[in-house]
This record gives sequence, C-alpha cells and structure tokens, in this order.
Amino acid sequence: MAKEPKLALIPLGGLGEIGKNIMAVRFGENILVIDCGLMFPEEGMLGIDVVIPDITYLLENKDAVRGIVLTHGHEDHIGALPYVLKQLNVPIYGTRLTLGLLQGKLKEQGVAGEANLEVVKPRDTVTIGPFKVEFIRVSHSIPDAVAVAVHTPVGVIVHTGDFKIDQTPVDGEVTDFYRLAQLGERGVLVLLSDSTNVERPGYTMSERMVGATFDETFRQAKERIIIATFASNVHRLQQAITTAHRYDRKVAVIGRSMINVINIAHELGYLHIPEGTLVELEEANRLPKNKVVFLCTGSQGEPMSALTRMALGDHRQVEILPGDTIIISATPIPGNEKLVARIIDQLFKQGAHVIYEAVSGIHVSGHPSQEELKLMINLVKPRFFVPVHGEYRMLIKHAELARTMGIPAEHIFVAENGQVLEFTRRSGRIAGRVTAGRVLVDGLGVGDVGNIVLRDRRQLSQDGILIVVVTINRELGQVMAGPDIVSRGFVYVRESEQLMEEARQRVKEALEKCNDRGLSEWAAIKSQVRDVLGKFLYEKTRRRPMILPIIMEV
Ligand SMILES: [Zn+2]
Ligand SMILES: [Zn+2]
Repeated sequence: MAKEPKLALIPLGGLGEIGKNIMAVRFGENILVIDCGLMFPEEGMLGIDVVIPDITYLLENKDAVRGIVLTHGHEDHIGALPYVLKQLNVPIYGTRLTLGLLQGKLKEQGVAGEANLEVVKPRDTVTIGPFKVEFIRVSHSIPDAVAVAVHTPVGVIVHTGDFKIDQTPVDGEVTDFYRLAQLGERGVLVLLSDSTNVERPGYTMSERMVGATFDETFRQAKERIIIATFASNVHRLQQAITTAHRYDRKVAVIGRSMINVINIAHELGYLHIPEGTLVELEEANRLPKNKVVFLCTGSQGEPMSALTRMALGDHRQVEILPGDTIIISATPIPGNEKLVARIIDQLFKQGAHVIYEAVSGIHVSGHPSQEELKLMINLVKPRFFVPVHGEYRMLIKHAELARTMGIPAEHIFVAENGQVLEFTRRSGRIAGRVTAGRVLVDGLGVGDVGNIVLRDRRQLSQDGILIVVVTINRELGQVMAGPDIVSRGFVYVRESEQLMEEARQRVKEALEKCNDRGLSEWAAIKSQVRDVLGKFLYEKTRRRPMILPIIMEV
C-alpha cells in the first residue's frame, strides 16, 4: 500500500504568547510560511528593542521554503521580515496595504531593493509550490486583512489570521462569510483560529461604535481635541478625520509612525481625506482652538511618543492647555497599564478633559469574542482544530470552546512553538519538535544578546557595579598601586566615603593574604577579591553589586 501523504503544521512563534506570529506549512520538500512578526520586549529584557522568532528550522531547510504569505500589516505579523529577509529571501505575498506598510519598513532598514513582493487581492488564488493559497477577506483593526486557505494534497488548511466579525465595517468590506462557508461545505482539514479575545463572552463591537463616540465628543468639545490611537488603525484614523471634517475642524498629525501610515494608506486609497482637511502642525497652532484636531501616537504611554511628551510638557510644538479634550482611543496592552495611567494623571493635572478606556465606546477590539469564534468554527466546520495567536490559557480556553461545539478532544491540538503537528486526511498527531524560540534584537545586534548578557544587565540594573583596580608587580608579588574602587549605581560615593575606605582595606588584606599563600594565578586572586568584597558589601548594605576586579601587571 502506498504511504499516506502527510502534511505538517509547525508554529515557530505566536503560540503561548501574543506576538511574533509565524507558522510553517510543510508538504514533502516544500515549506510555505504564514506571517513573520515581531514582539515587543517583556519586562526584564533590559535594553532590548524587539524580539523576533528563531527561524533556524527554516534556514536548515532553506531550499524547501517556497514563499511567505502575509495576513495583514500589523507588526506582530510582518515586523520580523526586515531581519528575516537578510537570511531567507523568498517571494512574499500580501494585499496592497500590507505590502505597502512592509515596504516602508524594508526601506527604513535598507533592504527594500532585495525583496520580491507579490500583491494579491481577496479571492485571489496563487500557486506556491504544491500549495494553492487563497486569500479571504476578514475584518480587523487594519484594512486589507485576510485569512488564508491553503489547498494541499492532504486537505485544506484555513488560517484565520487576526479577525473579527464586523457587520458594519468602516470601509464597507465585510468578512467573506460566503467563501468561508463554501470551504466548510467542501471540507476543511484544519482550522487555525485567533485566540486573543477568547476570554470575552458575546460579540466584539463594531468599529463604527467608535465613530459614534467621536461624534458625541466632538459635539461637546469647545476647544482643541487631541486623539491618541494606534498608528496602524487606519479605520480609526479615518473616523477621526471624517468626524473632524464634519465638525469643520482641521487635522494635524503628530508622530513619525502615524505620519508614515497615513501617507501610505492615503497614497494607496485606503484613507479618504477631504481636500484641505490635513494641515501642518504650525498652521494648526495658529487656528482657533475649536477648529483643530491633533491626531497622535502614544496611546500606550510609550516614553518617546507624542502624547507622553505633551503630557510631560516636553513636546516642542504642542503644549496641553486647560480646556483641551483628549481622547485615548485604545486599550492599554497588558503591561502598559501603569504607563498609560500615569499619562492620564498628567493630562488631568494640566487641566485637560481626558476620555479614556473606562468610558465605553472609545475603543473596540480588532479580535473576535466567543460568539464570533463559534461562528468561524460553524462556518468552516474543520475536522481538526488548532487555536493560535494567544497566551497559553487563551489557547486552552479556545480548545474548550471548540470542544463544546462538537469537535472531539482528540481532534484539537493545543501546541507549543516548535512542535510539529502532522496530519493525514484522517488523522492528526504531535510528531516531534524543531528548534523554535526567540531572538533578541538590540540596536544593530540580532541575536548577540542572550540569557547571560540579560542576567548581567539585570544585576547591573538592580545593584550597580564596583570596579576594583590594582597594579601588581608579578616578580615581587607586590601591590604597586591601588586598590582603587570605582562604583556606579551602587552607592553615592561622596556620602559613603567610610564604606568605600573599609572596602578598600578589605581588598588590601585579601591581596596580602594571597601573597602570603603564594597565590600568583590572576584568576584565583580575582576570585578572592570578589568573594571577600562581595561578602563585606552584603553584610553592610544587603546589596549584591557586580564586582569587576582588574589587575594590571608591571
Ligand atoms: Zn492584527
Ligand atoms: Zn496579531
């Protein structure tokens, strides 16, 4: 009997976390990659700019990788490409806005010339190796988002990407229910679905709700209006611009990333800006207060963003005035709550009227709640189900939800990054593991900061550093100069002279002891100094600074 054909799904990122989404689909010697995103550093990843997925598996199978398809233009789906393309240059398929935003990023990193970008439209099917990949429109918090259906010799895989069911989307482009149902009717082997909001019952509200809230707020505002939101939420930007136009206000955009997105989306026809509505910041500052809206970044309290600078009175061109109405049209991403709360406090202190998350309708999510997730499962009717795009508990919740809908438990896989899910037409199992994980990017260094460097950074950030410099004559074994102690981030030396002097004495004694015992190995001497000084400082201060002995030889 001929061997049954097998298909492997290998998540390389995005499972057990929100961010750095990337999924490999493998059939024989052919690999298709879905999305290639980044993640922002977690607490404790000191100095790290971004985190990208470890693509060792793809590099080891370089010749098999046929292409990368993108679901939409968010950072957690396209953000790693500027780094990955340098190692793996294969054709990239995406819708016009997605590739427009990607192109902007590639240009910034100076790799735009090398990329092979193929524009697709919803309902297009492209052949990539043995795969026929179909793009299916979905609603999300960015226009031009798609799910993908991968037709393989083993069966059809549907990957939802990020989606929501919005019956009244701002751009009028509704999720392609018809096509999803048609695929379901014909038979889908595996559904991979967005788990971000699985903990929320009911339906996610339509983006149009925010438009209604904007309208209400604009009607009441007597002076300036400042709206902070995600730079990439083109629907939201559209509603802000449309509402401003309706109330005869001009719009000035502040923040580089938002200006970039507005330029690209406008150029590609995804953003409709009435003639004369956009003005430069200088002009906006000259207009009467009831004639302007500022659109800006900083809805997450990011330290360098426009809103944060304004709140701290640190922005060169815009200062917050009593009477300003400030709308924070976003919800803080977990971990950012404190930053955002502090910014809101600052804005209130300056006399502004702040409308934020607690007020309903000022933000809606781009992800599906439970009823929408159920609808997706009912439309697609998959044989196997794999929750993706979520932290571990969300994947578990999503698996439970699928089970209540009649998918047998043994047909549901809660997987981890790197696990290989292997399917035949009838069966599915977890079949081993490949390398997966995270690569930290710091400045120009990609992957050169690992756990050891992070551990040192943590120690330095908590208790500081002491450097002990001593000059020794090797032949005589005598201390010629020092020991001198320099410290940073440990104690304020001028107010701790006695402690530092005592510390110097302890080092001196340790060195003498080494000499008496005939110790001449530098490494052994350094270790002695570290031990003695470490113990002394801990006794006196209950702190453990990093101790760095430097021996100079004469
Ligand atoms: Zn998204
Ligand atoms: Zn996402």
